[in-house]
Amino acid sequence: MAKHVVLAGAAGFLGSHLAHRLLLGGYQVTGLDNFHTGRVRNLSHSMDHEAFHFIVHDIREAYIGKCDAVMNFACPASPPDYQANGIGTLKVNFQGTLNLLGLAKSSQASFFQASTSEIYGDPEVHPQVETYRGMVNPIGPRACYDEGKRVAEALTFEYQRQHGLAVKVVRIFNTYGPHMRPDDGRVVSNFITQALRGENITIYGTGRQTRSFCYVDDLIEGIFRLFESGASVTGPMNIGNPVEFTIRELAELVIDVTGSKSTVINLPLPEDDPRQRCPDISFARQTLGWEPKTALREGIEKTVLYFDNILKQPENVQAA
Ligand code: NAD
Ligand code: UDP
Repeated sequence: MAKHVVLAGAAGFLGSHLAHRLLLGGYQVTGLDNFHTGRVRNLSHSMDHEAFHFIVHDIREAYIGKCDAVMNFACPASPPDYQANGIGTLKVNFQGTLNLLGLAKSSQASFFQASTSEIYGDPEVHPQVETYRGMVNPIGPRACYDEGKRVAEALTFEYQRQHGLAVKVVRIFNTYGPHMRPDDGRVVSNFITQALRGENITIYGTGRQTRSFCYVDDLIEGIFRLFESGASVTGPMNIGNPVEFTIRELAELVIDVTGSKSTVINLPLPEDDPRQRCPDISFARQTLGWEPKTALREGIEKTVLYFDNILKQPENVQAA
């Protein structure tokens, strides 16, 4: 009998790709999502699969069921999304994670938590290694997400210590690709949408801040390998692309790939915006034999094709 995974956040950007990868890997998958930022269309390649079941569920409420593994990918991930209701974001990360840990405990299942590079805040150590404890502003506008994710990690490892739960934590660095929402406010989706619509490309601050962008297929492969690795590999483990770009370089690349006539403009830098971010992936390389394969240009080309199609859908066509 195929192992049964309960995957929270299955209709989201990453959750939908992960659901598909788990089904390909022979797992039975029950997806949970409340469609806060997820979309039904993201599940089009999984919905007809006989081993996939979907339940509309908010993880801030308990979910009762039986399974072999619980994976928690439910949480808005874009700053405008998670800041729109900061208390809700804190509840998803505390109460939601607690509920899913309870589900894993009652099923004697393993638990896998999607954590984030935001754990490191505005880092003073560069690139970021898993042992670095971070520099997070606990009362700033990003705290609902950063501190929420930190408490989710703390809860996960308390369940391991106190209840002997088999746990794993991945720290995901900026990821992009198909299934992102055009209006989700993250930099890759903003720049591509703006370039395709011929709107101004909005660089926040000087554009000298850096991020390291991982194409979604690479990320999902790393996550799948971590999920299937031996129980002694708990993480936290960084998964991301260690090639660092400035935000200005990203804007130039998007203009080049789309052939857009858009103009770059500078807007104020949001409070607490990290100045640099780049993963040290030595742990993933050594433990999983994993590293990303997709160069930024290639990944942006694939993502532009997806957005070009999505922006032609009636709900995304802007009134003239
Ligand atoms: P996303 O917003 O596309 O997906 C999140 C999903 O969770 C959505 O389908 C949403 O509807 C669902 N959700 C939100 N609140 C919920 C609730 N209370 N109950 C049930 N479902 C709920 O974001 P994503 O990029 O796919 O991120 C997925 C996970 O990966 C998140 O935990 C995020 O923190 C983490 N992560 C993502 C990135 C990235 O670059 N994409 C980076 C670091 C960490
Ligand atoms: N950013 C930008 N223009 C945008 C959206 C974001 O310059 O339209 C910047 C943002 O200030 C940050 C970087 O791009 O420095 C990455 O932002 P994103 O929201 O994608 O992710 P995060 O800040 O969580 O890494």
